[in-house]
Amino acid sequence: MDNVSFLIEKLYMEGWLRDEEFLEVLIHHGENEIRNLLAEYARKTAHRYYGNKVYTRGLIEFSNYCRNDCYYCGIRRSNSHAQRYRLKKEDILTCCDEGYNLGFRTFVLQSGEDGYYTDELLIEIITDIKRRYPDCAITLSLGEKEKESYQCYYDAGADRYLLRHETSNAQHYRCLHPKELTSEHRKQCLKDLKAIGFQTGCGIMVGSPSQTLKHIVEDLHFMKELQPEMVGIGPFLPHHDTPFHNEPAGSFTLTLTLLSIIRLILPDVLLPATTALGTIDPQGREQGILAGANVVMPNLSPVAVRKKYMLYDDKICTGDEAAECRVCLSNRMKRIGYELVTDRGDSIRKLEEKRICTINIH
Ligand code: SAH
Repeated sequence: MDNVSFLIEKLYMEGWLRDEEFLEVLIHHGENEIRNLLAEYARKTAHRYYGNKVYTRGLIEFSNYCRNDCYYCGIRRSNSHAQRYRLKKEDILTCCDEGYNLGFRTFVLQSGEDGYYTDELLIEIITDIKRRYPDCAITLSLGEKEKESYQCYYDAGADRYLLRHETSNAQHYRCLHPKELTSEHRKQCLKDLKAIGFQTGCGIMVGSPSQTLKHIVEDLHFMKELQPEMVGIGPFLPHHDTPFHNEPAGSFTLTLTLLSIIRLILPDVLLPATTALGTIDPQGREQGILAGANVVMPNLSPVAVRKKYMLYDDKICTGDEAAECRVCLSNRMKRIGYELVTDRGDSIRKLEEKRICTINIH
């Protein structure tokens, strides 16, 4: 314990550890005392930037059609049991209307990789949302695209893009995806997104099949190098209609430990306590915030389609109206001393860069 406490303090002070030191901390994720100490430092760090504010994003899962066949994902192409749906532009705008009235100032548009939504259609959707709600941010999570496509979404007004890298180790990536999908291409997409100017999010599933702690340390290196504005992590959870149906779920305590470590290596990062974390444990999102996360992403999708966007089994909140989700989360945050705020919740780093640019121009 003493040795690990020392490492945690070092991580807090210096924002980085040697590989074997990271491993030493990760190995002890099951010990409450260690996790509490890490969480304390992670919270202190989050407070420095965000106080007790928790940002909220309205998640609109607008299509579950997908051309990919990732072994872990419930909406993979080969899952013939999935009931497929697509929301029309008007339905998406209705979700935004409802979300805006509930206090959401970021809309996250997420889908499978669905060719039905051409760049022209996506540009129209982005432009219409921005026209109606110029004070809101748009986050996209549409998977891998050409750089030109990313650029035109950015030019249309999209602000952020989430693309989890899933694992930075090419061999491990191979265990999770069919061969037409490569780690190299996924990483290239992330670099393109950063270069274009998106607030960019990467991330992993914790405890995905074949993952080792060494892989996780590689992921930490990847994050440090990419300097993402957002990081999305949650436990892997099996889905009964996928090749990984018999695989065990990822560890809750390892996910919490990792949230704290990520807060310490990327102090101002936007870090959600994800739905998967809330699914693996009834207090998961609260515990995530207490481990250093500062974002929650309740669902704004129409209730009629919620159950169809099943990435994994037993996903929570699939029967609740958006308003109920918002109130429920707001109360959950209040109970642990945090406040859900009505705010775009931009990356502080990005705002600072913009401010410096503006000063230089004038
Ligand atoms: N098509 C988009 C959105 C994918 S869904 C894209 O490619 O980015 C968003 C994330 O859900 C994925 O990146 C993955 O990390 C996570 N996910 C998918 N299946 C999961 C599972 N079985 N358990 C936990 N997380 C899962």
